[in-house]
Amino acid sequence: MANKKILIVEDNELNLELISDILKIKGYQIISANNGKDAIRLAKETHPDLILMDIQLPVMDGYEATRRIKSDPEFKAIPIIAVTSFTMKGDKEKVMEAGCDGYIVKPIDIKRLPELVKEYLQKNKKNRK
Ligand code: MN
Repeated sequence: MANKKILIVEDNELNLELISDILKIKGYQIISANNGKDAIRLAKETHPDLILMDIQLPVMDGYEATRRIKSDPEFKAIPIIAVTSFTMKGDKEKVMEAGCDGYIVKPIDIKRLPELVKEYLQKNKKNRK
């Protein structure tokens, strides 16, 4: 899984640093965005292997950014995992409806995160065959 490119979309500096550090240690190449609009631009410029998407973001939220990336045939195969502290009933359905492929709940489980990322990368590889 080394050399895989991951786009982290997160407006909280500390969360971004945490997620980024965990994944860099595992050998992933990290790109980051602080809002939904930059997330779309960077997704299209860098074509990452996976996107970790915060939902509450300035400029454009994670739902809208996900919808727009998934509506483009060239980019719809990129797995997008929502990373959110939303725990209300229906929140999971809402992110899945927006087109996300999975859902990770905050606070981030630093042991589990790399395992989940690996799982989603492998799943995507299979789907593309
Ligand atoms: Mn946020």
